[in-house]
Amino acid sequence: AVDAPIDPDAIFKQGFLADRPVKPVITRFPPEPNGYLHLGHAKAIAIDFGFARFHGGKTILRFDDTNPDEEAEIYFTWIIKIIKWLGFTPSEITYSSDHFQRLYELAQDLIRKGGAYVCHCSESEIKLQRGGKDGKEGPRFRCAHADQDIQMNLDKFKDMHDGKYEPQTAFLRMKQDIDSGNPQMWDLAAYRIPKHQKPHLRAPEWKIFPTYDFTHCLCDSFEGITHSLCTTEFILSRESYEWLNKTLGVYEPMQREFGRLNLEGTIMSKRGLKQLVDQKIVRGWDDPRLYTLIAIKRRGIPPGAILAFVNELGVTTNRTFIQIVRFEQTVRRFLERTVPRLMLILDPVPVTISDLAEPVYLDIPFSPKDSTFGSHSLEFTKTIYIDRSDFREVDSKDYFRLAPGKAVGLLNAPLPIKAVSYTKDETTGLVTGIQAVSDRDAKPKAYISWVPETSLKVEARIYRSLFKSDDPSAAEGGFLNDINPDSEIIYHDALLESGFNEVKQRAPWPAVLGDSAEVSGSESIRFQAIRVGYFAVDTDSTDEKVILNRIVSLKEDSGK
Ligand code: ATP
Ligand code: MG
Ligand code: MG
Repeated sequence: AVDAPIDPDAIFKQGFLADRPVKPVITRFPPEPNGYLHLGHAKAIAIDFGFARFHGGKTILRFDDTNPDEEAEIYFTWIIKIIKWLGFTPSEITYSSDHFQRLYELAQDLIRKGGAYVCHCSESEIKLQRGGKDGKEGPRFRCAHADQDIQMNLDKFKDMHDGKYEPQTAFLRMKQDIDSGNPQMWDLAAYRIPKHQKPHLRAPEWKIFPTYDFTHCLCDSFEGITHSLCTTEFILSRESYEWLNKTLGVYEPMQREFGRLNLEGTIMSKRGLKQLVDQKIVRGWDDPRLYTLIAIKRRGIPPGAILAFVNELGVTTNRTFIQIVRFEQTVRRFLERTVPRLMLILDPVPVTISDLAEPVYLDIPFSPKDSTFGSHSLEFTKTIYIDRSDFREVDSKDYFRLAPGKAVGLLNAPLPIKAVSYTKDETTGLVTGIQAVSDRDAKPKAYISWVPETSLKVEARIYRSLFKSDDPSAAEGGFLNDINPDSEIIYHDALLESGFNEVKQRAPWPAVLGDSAEVSGSESIRFQAIRVGYFAVDTDSTDEKVILNRIVSLKEDSGK
């Protein structure tokens, strides 16, 4: 059978519910609207939404918009689209900024409880207070600001709020536990005045902004989140998360952690991706060689395959690096039995079959195994095109494809053909045409693909790894020094059989791949090009010209 889309049972048997058997389960996915989501986020989305869905609960999409410097409208739009594309529906969309007033009031409460103070120390002073590098260079101590009385702290905090301090000259710190062994309890910042006073998109009146450590646990609490799931970098933050909710006496959600998904052989950090885009090493944030989810979508990878991949990895706390080939293997398995087959010739050479008087009309199934796929017509014409790599000027014993005097089978065609002669462009050295005859009696050892002369001229983009090494960030001179010059090979004059028109009309095809009609585009027009790979239609396509992306090859290659 076809690989099922995510099986929530398999990944959620363990864990979170046993730790806190509360229903209905309410989770949240809390992206910062400061970039495009990547494959790692798909794991978080699948876990946050999948866990709640499995237990009949719900998931809130909360934009953690506490940093006006980095936010942009386009990120909100795409985050919503990508979650839908993955097949999940938030019960509600909220924003941390919805709660700015309430958070501000709770910060005042915290001051009144003696749990926070306004501090004016510099970064280096704070480092010193925290015991220097790794907290190991000296004793930890609090600054004099920690001793200010409550009223002074309230006044100063109001002054911060009213814009009376220059950026970065005052911040609110929580008075936690500097004797704790946990650095996430060493009087973390709760409010800051950002350096650039860029107005917040949804709350332009605010000049001070709450930090992650102050905001996250409280917003989880306000929204009644039962299980707050995040990546393992936040394990140490769990103590501060619990401390703040408890100290303020608000509802206490439970935080639990799972391992990040990291991919080997690529980079997913925003800063790195931005460099690749700005330096035009890739076409944009959705370049099919990247692992942002918009790029993965554009490349034609079906959402169902992403969920299957996350499911295969499981919900462990391991921080493992996963090889791209492993991801591609899941994608390939997913596509193998689910997309129609067509013939595509990347580098065409004409072959004229001199004894074929009339074209022969063939009826070719879209799938060799599944008759529900239906069939399409294909013309076997006097002139056909085969791939340059399937012809050799000089035959040899261990070679089974076309050569002068040698016969080869043509996939789906009634008769093998034998090459008789060929023509060649003397300046380029390239074969320009092959003359052949049909060879009814031949017993060919190989079958090659071909297309009739009535085929569509298309552009096909073949991708390989964008980087040469498995750890581009560690490459000498940085990842920009590790770019694979052959990461994209373009065939401008490829030929695709006309059965494509029907494939296009019937897309998205079929439902198991998980494309939602609402958010999918040309990438849901997918097919297997026999012997060449899996392809999808690129968004650069126009009415005049079809442009194809190779999603994955048919078999694993080194990718380099
Ligand atoms: P990045 O810097 O890579 O964008 P982030 O943690 O800043 O990551 P957020 O927008 O804060 O991104 O992430 C939203 C959610 O996605 C968080 O719960 C975070 O833990 C989770 N997440 C981010 N990256 C990964 C990853 N590589 N694997 C699994 N979950 C991730
Ligand atoms: Mg973050
Ligand atoms: Mg982020």
